[in-house]
Amino acid sequence: MKAPHSCVVVGAGLTGATAASVLARQGFHVRVHEQADVVGGHVRTEWIRGIPYEPHGAHIFHTFDSEIWQFVNEFTDFVPYRHRVTTRLRSHQLSWPLQRSELPQLEEWPEVERELSSLPPEPDTTNFETYCRSLMGDTLYGLCVRNYTLKQWGRAPDELSASVAVNRVELRDDGYRSLFRDPYQGWPERGYADLVEALIEPAEIHLGKPVTCADLTELTRPGEPVVITSALDDFFSGELGPLEWRGVRLESQFMPDVSLFQSSMVMNEPDLAVPWTRTIETKWALEKLHTTPGTVVMREYPGASAKHYPVPDSAGTNRALQASYEAKLAAYPRNPLVAAGRLATYSYINMDQAVRQGLAAARRVIEAH
Ligand SMILES: Cc1cc2nc3c(=O)[nH]c(=O)nc-3n(C[C@H](O)[C@H](O)[C@H](O)COP(=O)(O)OP(=O)(O)OC[C@H]3O[C@@H](n4cnc5c(N)ncnc54)[C@H](O)[C@@H]3O)c2cc1C
Repeated sequence: MKAPHSCVVVGAGLTGATAASVLARQGFHVRVHEQADVVGGHVRTEWIRGIPYEPHGAHIFHTFDSEIWQFVNEFTDFVPYRHRVTTRLRSHQLSWPLQRSELPQLEEWPEVERELSSLPPEPDTTNFETYCRSLMGDTLYGLCVRNYTLKQWGRAPDELSASVAVNRVELRDDGYRSLFRDPYQGWPERGYADLVEALIEPAEIHLGKPVTCADLTELTRPGEPVVITSALDDFFSGELGPLEWRGVRLESQFMPDVSLFQSSMVMNEPDLAVPWTRTIETKWALEKLHTTPGTVVMREYPGASAKHYPVPDSAGTNRALQASYEAKLAAYPRNPLVAAGRLATYSYINMDQAVRQGLAAARRVIEAH
């Protein structure tokens, strides 16, 4: 008798849950192994007295891809939300991305204006710092970007690749105030855990134990496909050395008598004297709660050991190490191994890309079968 299709997924974040969801619905018996004691990975909403907060950082779903938007809406209900960020500069609260129309209020406006009038036609992509300085001039860069970047990355901005700034640092003159321009944007009304749990529901789930390559002989049959969404240095027990990551730590505070604490969901704090990089108030995503008393404010501190942001150094060292791990993965003889998601690909990806990678991983498993 023919054995039923089966496969293993390592990691129950959005990528792993998407792959597991598609494969299970295609008739595969899917076993998911997650090291944490809950599913959801980096996108897990928590609630205090009906007020949402995200202990792993603010998450707004935004995409240009109608197929992905339709896919996630099949699993949970999204409410419309257009994300706004503000940056604090002394007594000023400026829109982020910066808007030219707001800059004349700055005491430094005469220098800023002079610098803006002599910018090069295209930004200089040598590194993060050259990119930003050529985009907005030295003064504005020094006031709003340099120190925030130092805090967030813990290294000089000229040691970072320009790719960190492209599409993230902008100077706008069109008055468009939302952070994202994607046509599809929203926030899941019951939080992200609801989405991930709905996706992963038909799979068999094992929680609380990390999986490495050494475990595959026990956990899988020879030839059984494995979707890996964990970091490859973890998966190979650091055999080629550790990959470098930058992590954040969030401290949450529930304020029972406050309805809304700040003027937008995210407030950036570029001042080096402030130890956190930004404050986040997730409640902004659910308009129906705005007048309800009680809110949760999270302060995001940089420099935690968590694997949140891969470090794109301008020398390319970290990418090269990742490529060596990918070669090792491709050469693994016993099982077809498919890497997907932010950890396994050592890349910063948004949630829509995580879903896209989960779908692609499932397709590869189905095709291999
Ligand atoms: C601070 C921050 C804010 C963000 N904000 C946004 C946003 O606003 N909008 C947006 O679209 N995207 C945002 N993102 C990106 C988003 O978080 C990712 O796209 C998404 O979480 C990727 O999902 P994933 O499944 O690939 O990774 P993860 O969510 O990290 O899931 C990987 C899972 O694998 C598990 N795991 C790891 N190692 C092992 C192992 N050895 N064995 C078993 N299990 C293991 C982990 O515990 C985890 O559950 C943000 C990211 C950060 C860091």
